[in-house]
Amino acid sequence: MDRKILLKESDIPRQWYNIAADLPTPMLPPLGPDGNPITPEMLAPVFPMNLIEQEVSSERWIDIPDEVLDILYRWRPAPLRRATYLEKYLDTPAKIYYKDESTSPPGSHKPNTAVPQAWYNKQFGIERITTETGAGQWGSALSFACNLIGLECKVFMVRISFDQKPFRKLMMQVWNGNCVASPSNETNAGRTILEEMPDTPGSLGIAISEAIEQAVTDPTGKTRYSLGSVLNHVMLHQSIIGLEAKKQLEMVGAGTPDIIIGCAGGGSNFAGLAFPFTLDKINGADIEIIPVEPTACPTLTKAPFAYDFGDTACTTPLLPMHSLGHRFVPAPIHAGGLRYHGMAPLVSQCVVEGLHTPRAIDQVECYEAAMTWSKTEGTICAPETSHAIAAVIQEAKKAKEEGKEKTIIFNYSGHGLMDLTGYDAYLTGKLTKYALPDKEIEKTEACLKDYPQAEMRKSGKW
Ligand SMILES: *Cc1c(COP(=O)(O)O)cnc(C)c1O
Repeated sequence: MDRKILLKESDIPRQWYNIAADLPTPMLPPLGPDGNPITPEMLAPVFPMNLIEQEVSSERWIDIPDEVLDILYRWRPAPLRRATYLEKYLDTPAKIYYKDESTSPPGSHKPNTAVPQAWYNKQFGIERITTETGAGQWGSALSFACNLIGLECKVFMVRISFDQKPFRKLMMQVWNGNCVASPSNETNAGRTILEEMPDTPGSLGIAISEAIEQAVTDPTGKTRYSLGSVLNHVMLHQSIIGLEAKKQLEMVGAGTPDIIIGCAGGGSNFAGLAFPFTLDKINGADIEIIPVEPTACPTLTKAPFAYDFGDTACTTPLLPMHSLGHRFVPAPIHAGGLRYHGMAPLVSQCVVEGLHTPRAIDQVECYEAAMTWSKTEGTICAPETSHAIAAVIQEAKKAKEEGKEKTIIFNYSGHGLMDLTGYDAYLTGKLTKYALPDKEIEKTEACLKDYPQAEMRKSGKW
């Protein structure tokens, strides 16, 4: 039995999969400030039109440009691995497979979309991209991509991470990225927040506002903004993960998996693996598909499905999604990439349909899972990824209790070698349990009550 299931470069998928083509009920549209659906033209100051076309597309398959593939070959096709050492340790009849997205140069799944986003911007004549980053993974992935494609990259990094994670900042610099702490003095959004709260640790919502403002106010018109998760075109680009995984499972005759797991911050690495299999579920396959989030930021498990802004300053369109409210300031848990207030509308819609069944896990259990993983499989996972591993361990134990030989596949979204401070907190006993108190959801409801209601569209099949 092979532990590494490798595709040849010639087997790489040549088209991305767009789940919007197959959802049983159509997506609600994003809304503008007047409450009416936005038009593609309204997004034009923020994104290049070729990416907006992908954002609104309902084509099932979209070609991956050869020039994009040529960059992705640096690490793709990514390995599918079998976690036999963990299986043995847990003494489980479950077969555990994982897609290893930690093998990309920046160390996560994020360059799968950073590369095409940079490429489409370049095609459109853009010279500079602005973005935000939380823990620094997205900023480093976009800096990596922009450098290869020949674009300037400006990154607004959430203040607390900027101070705590100097190595991510250095990675951005190595790849020619320009990284500043957010809130910054460079934008109106940043200056306003600094006046109100000079000591704020910052948040992704604030950093997004700053990055969008700087893109749309560039008088030359050659700057656009880029988002590393949440949006439809990001889910599209990440589908390469699940499309490869399907081929790899076929190669070893593993059949359709019983359980699919990924951690969910904005939803992109989870969706990347899960959406191609969600199509099988839509067509009748019996698969449990589980996005996993922290109990500190329980977007899918506790927050309402509502229309909300993607950023604190309310500059984005209103998106139909599960959301803790755009004013939500998450607790400083170590999984920085899982602290976003909202969730991809496509993932949110799958949850509304019942196609995906979300789960929240506390960070202490997640670090215990990460430690078990490192001591069996060997690698040190990202704090975000530990949420997927904790759910995998829960499911593998359940399979043992039930005596069922289930096939589990999860997305190993990234390595944790730049995020060892969380491991330090765990090892020195400083890591504490934290679940968002139910009372906080009242603040969410207060934040969302003035916006249009989001209709819960579901077919009732799941
Ligand atoms: C950014 C990140 C995440 C969370 O983002 P999603 O869009 O939900 O995938 C998860 N894992 C790692 C390693 C990340 O860098």
